[in-house]
Amino acid sequence: MSILPKKLALIVPVHNEEENISLFYNTVKANLTRQSLNSLPEDFHELICDFWYIDDGSADTTLDKIKALQAVDKSVHFISFSRNFGKEAAIYAGLSYTQNYDYVALMDVDLQDPPSLLPTMLEKLVTENLDSVATRRADRKGEKVLISFFSNLFYQMLSKISSTKLVSGARDYRIMSQAMVKAVLALPENQRFSKGLFSWVGFKTEYISYENVNRQRGQSSWGFWKLFRYAITGLISFSTVPLTFVAALGLLVTFVAGLGAIFLIIRKIIDPTVAIGGWTTVVVVITFFGGLQMFSLGIVGRYIAAIFLETKRRPMYIEKERK
Ligand code: UDP
Ligand code: MG
Repeated sequence: MSILPKKLALIVPVHNEEENISLFYNTVKANLTRQSLNSLPEDFHELICDFWYIDDGSADTTLDKIKALQAVDKSVHFISFSRNFGKEAAIYAGLSYTQNYDYVALMDVDLQDPPSLLPTMLEKLVTENLDSVATRRADRKGEKVLISFFSNLFYQMLSKISSTKLVSGARDYRIMSQAMVKAVLALPENQRFSKGLFSWVGFKTEYISYENVNRQRGQSSWGFWKLFRYAITGLISFSTVPLTFVAALGLLVTFVAGLGAIFLIIRKIIDPTVAIGGWTTVVVVITFFGGLQMFSLGIVGRYIAAIFLETKRRPMYIEKERK
């Protein structure tokens, strides 16, 4: 009896990564050998592993490099966007087109997600009967100090104010069963924060830790502000606590102002000749509360902006070419 081999799709978002396309391909091939899959059940021995590069509007020769690879290996596929839509859109596109695979893996092309972990992840998935095996970095060696600081702050804050739990240092690198992928795809939101969505859908997930690996070639497309905006998207999508915070702050300020008013009235009754307070105090108080109001409005505004963007129902990406 012949055994139907399992099918795995590697979804690889790429943005200006010409130096990495074939390096990534070769490294994966070298790590996913028949030998490395030997300890897995028999239907994994001849594992069919397809590459799905999602070209997220690259301006360099990334797409040519992918096409060259495809010319020699039919297991290479690609979707090319009409412009840069962001990694989240690329992940979504990749998941949508790989629904006929048993398993789907998300990977960065810069080898920061070590392909050497793939056999271990598959083994864990199968032997422990999981829906997903994800990865987290045990450390942040080599990362910019400012980015590390704010990343940690973000994870701590979100874990306090959201019922969706995020693992600190979690990467997007993970393998999922098709059942989980379908659940993720069923979430229709436009402004996506995948780490949160993967946690929100549930399913049995285990994490593997590994030491941080620095980017091999090319440059990271994520500057501080891009990461910051992404963090805000995550916060807004997975918590309404900032709104409650604004309401609570408003209530607190009103209460303190009430106390102040009572104090002034009593003082006036006790000593009717008391002089009116200074100009400076008034200005400081007005600007302070002016600032507080703008800050609160800003928070409310972020939620309104999120609603506005969602209601437009624009597609998450526009495809230019797919093969
Ligand atoms: N990427 C993408 N679209 C973007 C930015 C990045 O598809 O707008 C891809 C990129 O090519 C890489 C992965 O997402 O494969 C992670 O990006 P990067 O290494 O720049 O991020 P970092 O590791 O610095 O967080
Ligand atoms: Mg990277």
